Amino acid sequence: MGQICCKCGKTDSEEKIVEGFCLSCYALEFPLIISFPEKQLNITACKVCSDLMYHSKWRQVIDSPADIIHEILDGFVKKAKKAKGTKLMVVSDFGDPPFDIASKHLLKIIFEGSPNAEVPPYQQEMDLNLIINIGVCERCAKFNRGYFESIVQVRSDQRDINEDEQRFISELIKTKKEENFGGNRMAYIAKFEDQTRGGIDLYIGSENFAKNIAHYLAENLAASIEYSTKLKSVKDGKPVYLSTYCIRVPYFEVGDVVEYQHESHQIIRFVFGRIELFNLKTRDHKTLSHKESHPDNLIIIKKKVNLPKFIIMALQPPNVSLMNSGSFETIDINSQFIFEDHSDGDEIIMADLPNGLFECFDI
Ligand SMILES: [Zn+2]
Ligand SMILES: [Zn+2]
Repeated sequence: MGQICCKCGKTDSEEKIVEGFCLSCYALEFPLIISFPEKQLNITACKVCSDLMYHSKWRQVIDSPADIIHEILDGFVKKAKKAKGTKLMVVSDFGDPPFDIASKHLLKIIFEGSPNAEVPPYQQEMDLNLIINIGVCERCAKFNRGYFESIVQVRSDQRDINEDEQRFISELIKTKKEENFGGNRMAYIAKFEDQTRGGIDLYIGSENFAKNIAHYLAENLAASIEYSTKLKSVKDGKPVYLSTYCIRVPYFEVGDVVEYQHESHQIIRFVFGRIELFNLKTRDHKTLSHKESHPDNLIIIKKKVNLPKFIIMALQPPNVSLMNSGSFETIDINSQFIFEDHSDGDEIIMADLPNGLFECFDI
């Protein structure tokens, strides 16, 4: 005699019978999902930055919040009591949830699997409420309170930081701000202050980000870094320190004449913190390494603003007659000390050095 489903009475000629149930009744008798870890999926969204929190852990939303919600849902399903090998197949679309007001979304989730090798895989649909609460994440709360762990200062001791430098520094900071700093949620700039005498103060949320930005600025500005730390407060019996990174921009600027390895050079430009030099005597260009571009290796001889101007009175190689634009004194020198392609009447700037006059670039 054939087998009969103990539930609906179907015979094995109508449908396969496994463990006393026809396949249709089997699927109902042995659900794939026995229980979810929680009755509903509770998520909190930060109303400031839209990041999402699940079980006290904040997750950064980079592209779409739906991706993060799916990730959280995967973790949720992993913890569900379920038949071995059960897979999540489809989740109903919940669109882009609003982040300014709490919302509830009914998710319909389809699972597929089979607890028994004799039973072909079947599907089960489950309802799950997704609750999105609205809050403010710790980072945004700290940011709003102006919290910072570290200050990065950009300074120059003997001169003001000029407008070009200030602009360049702002660009560098912008680049760093746009980098997703290893997902560090405290990598923010709480306050940005332009100092009146030139220079910048940055108040930064995380010590690590401050260190990173300080080294990046120093490298690009051919500057040195001074680090200091002081006790700010005591929290839960533990000392809280405030660190300061002072980036000292060198006294020299583009256009200045410096001594490098006992020879006179003009600084042509800074290329990502590497200094390009022009040898006044040999007229060779040389770009120093990052390490060599340190202020310790260059001695300033003349600031560009102090280089005298001359007017070419008569260019008759091998000689040239020059008149100092300030003192109106005239002087004859060998024409090899000025650049080619000049003609009478041109105004040029020159460095007046112990070994003679050398034309410099007016940059
Ligand atoms: Zn049945
Ligand atoms: Zn936030």
